[in-house]
Amino acid sequence: MSEHIGHLIHGEIHCDSEQTQAVFNPATGAQCAVVGMASTATVDQAISSANKAYPAWRNTPPAARAQVMYRFKTLLEENSDKICELITREHGKVLSDAKGELARGIENVEFACGIPELLKGEHSRNVGRNVDAWSEFQPLGAVAGITPFNFPAMVPLWMWPSAVMCGNTFILKPSERDPASVLYIAQLAFEAGLPAGVLNVVNGGPDVVNQLIDAPEIQAVSFVGSTPIAEAIYQRSSNNGKRCQALGGAKNHAVVMPDADLENVTSALMGAAFGSCGQRCMAISVAVAVGDKVADALIEKLKPQIESLKIGPGTDNSNEMGPIITAAQKDKVAAYVAQAIEQGAEAVVDGSTIVVPNYESGYFFGGTLFDKVTPEMTIYQEEVFGPVLVVVRVKTLEEAVELINDHEYGNGTCIFTRDGEASRYFSDKVMVGMVGINVPLPVPVSYHSFGGWKRSLFGDLHAYGPDSIRFYTRRKAITQRWPSGGVKDGTLFSFPSF
Ligand code: NAD
Repeated sequence: MSEHIGHLIHGEIHCDSEQTQAVFNPATGAQCAVVGMASTATVDQAISSANKAYPAWRNTPPAARAQVMYRFKTLLEENSDKICELITREHGKVLSDAKGELARGIENVEFACGIPELLKGEHSRNVGRNVDAWSEFQPLGAVAGITPFNFPAMVPLWMWPSAVMCGNTFILKPSERDPASVLYIAQLAFEAGLPAGVLNVVNGGPDVVNQLIDAPEIQAVSFVGSTPIAEAIYQRSSNNGKRCQALGGAKNHAVVMPDADLENVTSALMGAAFGSCGQRCMAISVAVAVGDKVADALIEKLKPQIESLKIGPGTDNSNEMGPIITAAQKDKVAAYVAQAIEQGAEAVVDGSTIVVPNYESGYFFGGTLFDKVTPEMTIYQEEVFGPVLVVVRVKTLEEAVELINDHEYGNGTCIFTRDGEASRYFSDKVMVGMVGINVPLPVPVSYHSFGGWKRSLFGDLHAYGPDSIRFYTRRKAITQRWPSGGVKDGTLFSFPSF
């Protein structure tokens, strides 16, 4: 019988008689578990648990909350092998990449440990005679988070540690494609001393998400996933009068200048385009070569490296690239590749036919490289979310920036150059939320915040870091005086002045 992945409600694993959905190991194509798709009643229980836990948690001193986070961080480190095995089993990424993902998630937990400092308000003495004023940041209540498949451990850790450390309670709806590591991590949080109900995990699909967004008890919604769903969730949350941040998809460009060190650029692009099989929202999927000479030299260097990529199951650490998440996504990537050829792109390496010996039923797709891609082509316009890198040729840096700014997405980008002036021009003018200068994947560290521009993010605040404190709290401005011997001013019909 398959392992059954349930929900975590009020600190207990919960399985109802609900529907289930199969979870597959993408390296073998075999079913490895089933995940419960929460019924309406189960989601209601999660909401009521989060609501019940809120008043006591809100009043727990931040320093006491932080103690839970310190213990949780230690448990994450002690159990990292088990967590990474679960990530690799269901997502397919190589174990070393799963370790990297978890390490970035742990950084977010470390950030949350500093919450007593971060929650400090602002204070002004004597704003009027004997009048003091301050702002404090109060939690919102029960909040919800919905996360994607591609970072099953890290993206939930972007959200709930900050949210609960601010004094909120949290309901997490992870991806139904790889739910095991998330549930295990949530259990570790309770082992660390998180009170029942402060974090609940419900598995399921769109129905569960919609029930959470529509529940009057849920005060705010954080979402990370594809752009069409992000936009719909942002709209629905806003229509319900809720605060929402919804991070969406991407098409990340790397500009290669004529003075760049092409050895370094090639290594950087290999990792950034093909790491995690291209299934990262910060993956580089477009190389913008400034000048034909750069383009020709880059293609010459990339081609043999892509052809010799080591592809296979993530459990073998000598592999560089694992499989795609599902058979359906693999077919989608193959369709994008076929369409690009039809539309006139030049396939330098076509990975659509690779077979990994002994893993013939796995969802593997080889590294793919296209040259002479133009902005009108679908492969340029849409997010492929697979191991496909395209080269677009431009004549100048200005043209490169214009190209990037015209794209609907604006998540990440980078420039490779030795020229300070060019990089300054680029970082100033480019309409993208996260910019790398000779850094291919400029994912901000946990004490900065993460977010794209344009259709890569709906909402005002970015995820994790300082913005998360603002997202998960509400400002309250308090003005106070203590008149001795009673109020002596008499009635005032105008604004008081000094
Ligand atoms: P997805 O949009 O299919 O799913 C994300 C979450 O939304 C899942 O929990 C899923 O169950 C839920 N969902 C799916 N359809 C829904 C619907 N109709 N209504 C309500 N909820 C629904 O995304 P995915 O395939 O899991 O993840 C890959 C996508 O996420 C890519 O587009 C990638 O760029 C994006 N992503 C973005 C970031 C970022 O920070 N901007 C980070 C990671 C992933």
